[in-house]
Amino acid sequence: MAVGSHIPLRTCIACRRKKSKFEMIRFVQKDGNVVLDAEQRYRGRGAYTCADYNCLKLAIQKKAFYRSFKSTVKIDPDQLGQDFDLCLRKK
Ligand SMILES: [Zn+2]
Repeated sequence: MAVGSHIPLRTCIACRRKKSKFEMIRFVQKDGNVVLDAEQRYRGRGAYTCADYNCLKLAIQKKAFYRSFKSTVKIDPDQLGQDFDLCLRKK
């Protein structure tokens, strides 16, 4: 059995590419709003996009967050964009 080679993969909700979760940006649903989970520490169902602003935009356009969270969550594109920016700078 291989030891230490398991990297959890997540699928981008926008482009459907699979990457290590450490390369992705995680989003969660909080009080009916989509929020960015920069530290990947919130419990519950998460949605992932690539660390690429185009994927965030596409996810919003395609309403991919609604599908992921199985409800019509509220999205504030400006706020998400800002948080996304901060997150990318840290990576
Ligand atoms: Zn993507």
